[in-house]
Amino acid sequence: MDLKDLYQQLILDHGKNPRNLGKFENFNKDAKGHNPLCGDKVHVYLKLDENKKISDIKFEGEGCAISMASASIMTELMKNKEEPEVKELIDDFLKMIKDSPELSSKIISEDEKTKLMSLSGVKKYPMRVKCATLPWHTLVSAMTDKPGEVNTEKED
Ligand code: ZN
Repeated sequence: MDLKDLYQQLILDHGKNPRNLGKFENFNKDAKGHNPLCGDKVHVYLKLDENKKISDIKFEGEGCAISMASASIMTELMKNKEEPEVKELIDDFLKMIKDSPELSSKIISEDEKTKLMSLSGVKKYPMRVKCATLPWHTLVSAMTDKPGEVNTEKED
């Protein structure tokens, strides 16, 4: 299987069966995001513990396979990460999806990198980039307690 097929399979898998879908009781941070161009909506819930570590993270949402796969992969990756790591991974992912050929972070495994890189195919399609980045901008908003809903048409 070549890399392109592997990436496509990962997106299909996570898009059809998103991990961490739903809501949990004791979240202490959350944010909503909306991508009106595609109709994607996500609501990210997380629990940041006393050590500023994400002890749990889930999301609710609906949208295209790219947005759901991105939210699924993101929530998998962020569980048990501490705040500085969360920031590093968000920056790394957003850089990669916009113009960097690869991820530079050293804190994730090769398998995890492959999962993130599966979304790299959207680079060629600016509209799709917004689908892929929506959950990540929404996570930033939740972490920083920004009021209001993330809207991809008002960001950047
Ligand atoms: Zn979309």
